[in-house]
Amino acid sequence: MTSELLVLGGGAAGLLAAQTAAEKGLHVTLLEARERVGKKLLATGNGRCNLSNLHVSPDRYAPAALEGRLLTTEMLLSLFMQLGLETRADGESRLYPRSNQAASVLDVLRFSLERQGVRCVTEFEAVRAERTGGGFTLHARDGRTESGRALLLACGGRAASRQDGYALARQLGHSVTLLKPALTYLTTEPSLVRGLQGQRTIARVSLLQGGRELAAEEGELLFRDKALSGIAVFDLSRVRARTKGDCELRVDLLPDWDDERTAAELARRRALFSPAGVLLTGLFPRPIAERLLERTGLRLQDMPDDKQLRALATLLHDWRFPVMGSGGFDQAQLCVGGVPLNELRPGGLRSARCEGLYLAGELLDADGPCGGYNLHLAFSTGYLAACEAAEDLRPRQ
Ligand SMILES: Cc1cc2nc3c(=O)[nH]c(=O)nc-3n(C[C@H](O)[C@H](O)[C@H](O)COP(=O)(O)OP(=O)(O)OC[C@H]3O[C@@H](n4cnc5c(N)ncnc54)[C@H](O)[C@@H]3O)c2cc1C
Repeated sequence: MTSELLVLGGGAAGLLAAQTAAEKGLHVTLLEARERVGKKLLATGNGRCNLSNLHVSPDRYAPAALEGRLLTTEMLLSLFMQLGLETRADGESRLYPRSNQAASVLDVLRFSLERQGVRCVTEFEAVRAERTGGGFTLHARDGRTESGRALLLACGGRAASRQDGYALARQLGHSVTLLKPALTYLTTEPSLVRGLQGQRTIARVSLLQGGRELAAEEGELLFRDKALSGIAVFDLSRVRARTKGDCELRVDLLPDWDDERTAAELARRRALFSPAGVLLTGLFPRPIAERLLERTGLRLQDMPDDKQLRALATLLHDWRFPVMGSGGFDQAQLCVGGVPLNELRPGGLRSARCEGLYLAGELLDADGPCGGYNLHLAFSTGYLAACEAAEDLRPRQ
């Protein structure tokens, strides 16, 4: 069966692309490997779908700024509003559906596909893409084929995914940069975090290389078995994925206190509470406090002297953890790397390597931090790629 536009991948980018292209009058077929579209979307934002952010701007993304390939937040929210989705921001500028349910985002997209008459074919895992005289033919693992005049690849990345589209992009003339898991935990020397699993605290965490700070984030720090996690570490894992060589994490447990205040507060606490065992009470969860004392060479019953107090003060602002590795793709929310943006026509989503091909979403070598930036990118590129396909297939007179 031949369509005007084949959209491969029923995730964030593909769903909005298919609805947009159909709204613009194209005959669209949406192909998805899984038994239903939008399964990953349902798992985003802990089931609440953090779909965008009030602070989206091209320079929040790597490896290069995304000018011309990103909708403003207002534009994306207005598109969703036209589909019936109301949204609201939380206290940290992250945008969620008003219902607080990812299912609402998927529902408005699905209903709109139905309204626009988009043909949806599920359990179609494309394994081969072919450029033919009249357009493109996709071959599924089970032998089925689908043809279209144009093809929009929106197969997502390798993170938390069983299928991908990198091989298909390669078959159509593109390259793929090194793929690495990101927005995940970072592993460290196990003895440094032993006994801390599940403990949380607020901290400023920096990623260092050779003593130089590459990036820093403030937020919740979560200790895991052999690893550090939490949103601050997730964001740093993205920077680390793009960095060659050894890195370490520096944890500042009292980012809002300067050295003077920390020294004064520790001295005050020593006068009040005496033994080391209660020195950090009320500041950190007990296992973290005990580990800090241990690292300073203090036992719970010790009376810390001035030197030990100074060492503790230093550790509170500069606790180091070598980075040994990270969570794998199955643990990651994002795949860093993909089809390089310089293989697209400048400022758009048209392939510069293959006429009639458009690329969108996480398949591209572009990524943003936690907080709604990656879904925003997927929706934006899906929408804009569909607009370009409609312009090319149905040029205005
Ligand atoms: C647990 C989790 C939580 C997340 N939470 C957030 C969040 O709250 N906010 C945020 O901004 N980002 C979040 N992300 C990241 C975000 O989900 C992705 O960046 C986004 O989904 C990418 O959209 P996409 O359409 O490019 O790819 P996907 O959403 O991955 O969709 C790709 C689709 O293509 C299909 N496909 C792949 N290969 C083939 C093939 N060969 N043939 C047919 N079909 C194929 C896949 O089955 C999939 O349905 C989260 C990620 C995870 C894993």
